[in-house]
Amino acid sequence: MAKIRITKAYKFDMAHALPGHDGLCKNIHGHSYELLVTLIGEPISDNDSPKLGMVIDFKDLKSIIKGLIVDELDHSMILRTDAPDDLIQIMKKNYERIILVDYQPTSENMIIDFAERIKAALPESVKLHHLKLWETVTSYTEWYADDNP
Ligand SMILES: [Zn+2]
Repeated sequence: MAKIRITKAYKFDMAHALPGHDGLCKNIHGHSYELLVTLIGEPISDNDSPKLGMVIDFKDLKSIIKGLIVDELDHSMILRTDAPDDLIQIMKKNYERIILVDYQPTSENMIIDFAERIKAALPESVKLHHLKLWETVTSYTEWYADDNP
């Protein structure tokens, strides 16, 4: 049976800062991110399946990624867990959507995090083929399963 790749696109707006960066990115700033999620699998051939002919229902893919990534990060501010305690407390006291991560929140590190989360949440019948994360209209990162066996 033929292997087919399917892709769905997502958008979210998020703020971050890159502490220690040697340029403007050390300051709090935001991006309108776009994430492409590409899966690979065989279209379901069971005539009795309601998903006949689908690798995965786009609706199911949408809800998996929305729940894992978009709902958490959209209109959020990412801070590192090693940020000063008083900064974290003040941000959490004044804003609802403060997310702490244990890595420098570059798009490179974010896409690694996303890949791990998505791989763990997918049904057995499909595999994550690659991710593409636009941070600006001219800059993006990619994660490929083949590069990370
Ligand atoms: Zn940035």
